[in-house]
This record gives sequence, C-alpha cells and structure tokens, in this order.
Amino acid sequence: MDMTETRDPAAKQQGGTHFDVLIVGAGISGVGGAYHLTQQCPEKSYVILETQDNFGGTWWTHKYPGIRSDSDLHTFGYRFKPWTTAPIASADEIRKYMGDVIEENGIAEHIRYHHKVMKATWSSAEKQWTLEVLNKTTGDTEVFTGNFLWMCQGYYRHEEGYTPDWPGMADFKGTIVHPQNWPQDLDYTDKRVVVIGSGATAATVIPAMAAKVKSITMLQRSPTFFRVGRNAIPLAEELRTLQVNEEWIHEIVRRKILYEQAIFTKRAATEPEKVKAELLAGVKHHLANDFDIEKHFTPKYRPWSQRIAFIPEGDLFNGVRDGKANVVTDEIERFVENGILLKSGDVLEADIIVTATGFHLCALGDVDFTVDGKHVDFADTVTFRGMMFTGLPNMVWVFGYFRASWTLRTDLVADFVCRLLNHMSARQAKQVEVALRPEDKDMQLLPFFDTDDFNPGYVMRGMHLMPKRGDKPEWAHTQDYWNEKDVFPKIDLDEATFHYG
Ligand SMILES: Cc1cc2nc3c(=O)[nH]c(=O)nc-3n(C[C@H](O)[C@H](O)[C@H](O)COP(=O)(O)OP(=O)(O)OC[C@H]3O[C@@H](n4cnc5c(N)ncnc54)[C@H](O)[C@@H]3O)c2cc1C
Repeated sequence: MDMTETRDPAAKQQGGTHFDVLIVGAGISGVGGAYHLTQQCPEKSYVILETQDNFGGTWWTHKYPGIRSDSDLHTFGYRFKPWTTAPIASADEIRKYMGDVIEENGIAEHIRYHHKVMKATWSSAEKQWTLEVLNKTTGDTEVFTGNFLWMCQGYYRHEEGYTPDWPGMADFKGTIVHPQNWPQDLDYTDKRVVVIGSGATAATVIPAMAAKVKSITMLQRSPTFFRVGRNAIPLAEELRTLQVNEEWIHEIVRRKILYEQAIFTKRAATEPEKVKAELLAGVKHHLANDFDIEKHFTPKYRPWSQRIAFIPEGDLFNGVRDGKANVVTDEIERFVENGILLKSGDVLEADIIVTATGFHLCALGDVDFTVDGKHVDFADTVTFRGMMFTGLPNMVWVFGYFRASWTLRTDLVADFVCRLLNHMSARQAKQVEVALRPEDKDMQLLPFFDTDDFNPGYVMRGMHLMPKRGDKPEWAHTQDYWNEKDVFPKIDLDEATFHYG
C-alpha cells in the first residue's frame, strides 16, 4: 500500500481500495470534480486514478512548441478560482493554476498516478463498480471498488494522435512528428518544416517554431476560421486598475465573455455571412494586401460548425505576412523521399513533417465496461443530458462544450453529481440509473452529435463509438451552456427518468 492510500481515512477504513467515488482522470474535469466533492460532499471518500505521471490531462499530454489554450482562461478556468493574468494561457500556466487548486484543497493525496483503468464492472447485487487498474509502475493489476464512477477521462485517446495513412510515408527520409507525442529532444533549428493541418494546433505550433527553422509551411486541404485579437481583456485591466478584487473581476469578466459569446453563437447561426465577413476582416488586417485570402483563409463551412481558435495578436498571420511562414492549400498525393508530393504536382521539401491532423475520439477512455455480466457497447446506450447513460448505473461522464469553454460544463456536471450523491444519501439509495420514460419509447435515436451543427474530422471519424442522443433536450448533449446553466441546477432528481435502488 502506498502513502497516498493510507492518508484517505475512509479508504483506510475500507481496506484502502474502496471509495465512495472513483474518479478517472486528473485533467481539468477530474481535478474540478474532486474540488466540488470536497466542498459539496465532504464526507465522501474518493480517489482519482490517472494513467499519466502527472496532472493536467490535455495540458500535460501536449508538449509541442507554443502549446496554449485557444479559449480564454476566465471561462476555461473554474468558476471558483479567479484567473488573474492574460486570457490565452500556455499549458504551463494552466497546470500551475490547476496545481494551486490541487494544493489549496488537499487533492494531491487522493491522486494515484500511473494507474490506468482497463476494465469497469458493475454488479447490481453488490451495488458497486469494480475497476481493474494497471499499475504502470509495477505492471500489476490492482482492483479498486467504488459506489459511484465519475468518468473524467476526456474525449480522445491520449496515447496517440490521429495520423492519416498517406501513401509513401515510409519513403520519407526525414522525421514525422504528431504534436500529441512531441519528442522533447527534437531539434528543428534551420530545418525545413511542413505542418499538415489548419486547426488550432497548426496555428499554434507554426508561430512558435518560426523563429528557429529554415522554413515552415502550413499545408492544408481546406482553410479554417480563426478569431484574431489582443491577448488581453480591457475590462479586466480596468477593474484591476480600480483595485477591484480578483474574485469580482473573475465573475464580471466571465459574465461579459459569456454574454458576448452567446450573441456571437446566435449570430453565427442567424447571419453566418456577416460573421464570416467579420472573422475574415480580422485575419486580413494582419496580412499583406495582395495575399490570396480567398484561397487560404476562407473556409467553405458555416462559422462555428467547427471550433474557432483564437489567435492572440494575430501571430500566425503576422508570420505569413513577414515571410517567416508559408501557407499552401492543396492535397497530398503521396510522401516522397524529400518531402510531400502534392496533387498540383509541386513538391514541398521537408526535413520534418508535423502531422497536426487531430485526435482519435474515444468513448469513455477505451475502458472495457461490463454491467451485470454483459459487455457494454456505448453505441447501444442513450445519453441523459450528455452525462449519464441508459443501462449504466451510478456513472457520469464529463463531456464539456465545443463552442464554449470545456470547464463551464465541468463545474455544472460536478454540481449535478454532488447533488445526486447527496440525494442518494438522503434517500438511502445505493443505485441510480436513467431509463427512457414511456413517453420516450418512440423517440427518434440520433448520433451523439448533430453533425449538421458541429462536424470536425475527429467527431465524424469516431461517431460510431458514441452513445445515442434522443430528439428531446433531456436525452442529448445540447452543447448549449446558456440553456444548461439554468436547467441543470433544476433537474428534478425524483423525476421518472431516475430509477433508484
Ligand atoms: C491541444 C488542445 C487544446 C485545447 N484547448 C482548449 C481550450 O482552449 N479551451 C477549451 O475549452 N477546450 C480546449 N481543448 C479541449 C480540452 O481537451 C478540454 O478543454 C479539457 O482540457 C479536457 O479536460 P478533461 O479533464 O475533461 O480531459 P483531458 O484533458 O483529456 O484529461 C483526461 C485525463 O484522463 C486520463 N485518462 C484517460 N483515460 C484513462 C484511463 N483509462 N485510466 C486512467 N486515466 C485515464 C488522461 O491521461 C488524462 O490525464 C483543447 C484540447 C486540446 C487537445
């Protein structure tokens, strides 16, 4: 038994491996969940099982040059802990903030690093989850049991990113790197670099590498929308000048950002052409007058049907304008010895190719789930508000927002979980499960995401793994913070959807 185990009094009482709540993942969701548990259910014992050797999740996995948030930290930060510096933050700054939350709330001693959850088994007879967990330090399988399973493992496979299988990759004599597995010793000084992709990662890595490389080219099949602006929030700066305390600033700035985002999101749906023109004007401002913006930075899709990354100070575009970075919009024919042969017939010469081509979406951390002896296929379940799933008792998954900061939902879901746990205690219930009501039986079942509304590549590739959604808001992840912030606190836990045992 390790030291962290003995320090949890409840766990110690119960033999060290049984907890009221098992949290999977020490990213922003798991750490946030632990904080809310500590505050709202202080008597519950819990453990956080984390496969990596440190906390942070996304912000620990990704170590590519320039790694930073693409949304502001007032709303990506928790509602309970003020963010006090520039809104777009580096991974290190985000981890520092998370580290403070961990330290200030005694969360560290609950985290077991190097613990990868492989298998989760629910027993209705015992009314508990049993987790088979690979201890990556010893190679042993450890068993943890718990009353409630809080899946905070994110939405993509951390071990490896998604790289398409292009013809001729083996012929390329240089180095191919995926940003999710960035080699810390990769020396790109004076190298010719091609970055494949047009999303937030490509937009971050290019300006960060530009100063050292011989050349750097963004190779994209099709352009992406970006938002350009100062990495500062004037209102926050003004309030700080007035010596308003940071708690107030955090709350006021969050409200302002969320108010403006609500308007933006609505406008993207109701007047997409105007929004498109505004976004393009922001980009154009940083480019030379004769730059072919139509070809390279004018997407074909409606704004907001894919996530829009914020480009602080327009650094990507300034690099293009100043000749430190190039953009090529074309398709890959094949990799060749010295680079990439394009469909146009051109060859992009490269020493290093960075495949900023996205993730593998994964349902529930690739954990193998069994309920009462039956293997669970998540595609056969229906989601209750993108948190719970039919046929899966005592379990919640935190899946944040794409169009608003992920953490807004982390806080909302955590409130829901804590309320549910307290409600179960009050009812002396050991089991809770969601099930379709009689009036839901003929409900149309749809893919987890509405792909007319939101359709990035990783979503389209991985949709078949995901639970189903119904055509009623209670049976869907609506991706609508502005609605959920009012609805979630009022979810009636005694309503017919919830079955207790
Ligand atoms: C590069 C990048 C930038 C992003 N920027 C933003 C942004 O600016 N704003 C925004 O809102 N969103 C952003 N996102 C989305 C981002 O993933 C979320 O916002 C958020 O960080 C997810 O937090 P999480 O804790 O839910 O999951 P994750 O960060 O994915 O953390 C999950 C943790 O669970 C662990 N885990 C997974 N499976 C298991 C298992 N079986 N057993 C044990 N542990 C397991 C993982 O190791 C990981 O540490 C970004 C994503 C990426 C990849």
